[in-house]
Amino acid sequence: MNDYMVRAMSKNGDVRIFAATTRNTVEEARKAHNTSPVISAALGRLLTGGAMMGAMLKGDDMITLQIRGDGPVKGLTVTADARGHVKGFALEPEVIVPIRESDHKLDVGKAVGHGTLQIIKDLGLKDPYIGQTALVNGEIAEDLTYYFASSEQVPSAVGLGVLMNHDNTVREAGGFIVQMLPGASEESISAVEKNVAKIHSVTDLLKEGNKPEDIIRLVLDGLEPKIFDPMPVEFKCDCGVEKVSRVLISIGEAELNKLIEEGEPVEIRCEFCGKAYTFSVDDVKELLAEAKKTGNLRK
Ligand SMILES: [Zn+2]
Repeated sequence: MNDYMVRAMSKNGDVRIFAATTRNTVEEARKAHNTSPVISAALGRLLTGGAMMGAMLKGDDMITLQIRGDGPVKGLTVTADARGHVKGFALEPEVIVPIRESDHKLDVGKAVGHGTLQIIKDLGLKDPYIGQTALVNGEIAEDLTYYFASSEQVPSAVGLGVLMNHDNTVREAGGFIVQMLPGASEESISAVEKNVAKIHSVTDLLKEGNKPEDIIRLVLDGLEPKIFDPMPVEFKCDCGVEKVSRVLISIGEAELNKLIEEGEPVEIRCEFCGKAYTFSVDDVKELLAEAKKTGNLRK
């Protein structure tokens, strides 16, 4: 099954929900970054949340979700657009954290630790929108829920899950974000609260074969959801030689000259997808000469 997300509204329009299935997206990220199981789960949850938050934007808007924590993964970054394209990476992708004793699940909260969640929305304006909140428990879903409540004043519930196979590939991934719109009725709010409380684990729902549409029917049970057309979700990076060249130039004239003197080809990896770009000494010389002409070069 290909990854996709679905948006729906309650019949009277006071509750909206996004639900997604993202196994392939998370597996692509795992392969790109060789993530350990607990980091596959952490990054997978953030990618899934990011893809749905991207779908809340319009046109060419972009959103970046950045987590910084004192746990061994140190940080996670995910960027998504409004068309279901999402990419991301972990600062320490290969760390191993013991399985949580209490429920024998991957201990994402332990891997992330205490820290902050920063949301950066590039809405095509001069300055991006930046919202920052403290992490609640590093489990990602609760952290996003708290962000929506405190930074955007939108009461929400977020469920995210990633289930791994024994061979460390991704078996299932997905989730939902349900939000109360301004003026939501008491009946709608209490119905959603009751329905969400019944969902013990998104991972279990996915394991039982539930699709995004099924999750929507569970969360909006009694509210006669109107379900809109699905949108494909995909791990997709927009890096290229030009973007990576700019990163190389940004190290400045002195460093570039050092590279040229060393006389070895330079390899730069895209941090989002791991793709390697190689620049010969002549390439570096050419980039340096161009940057000098345009004047945007650090000494
Ligand atoms: Zn890339």
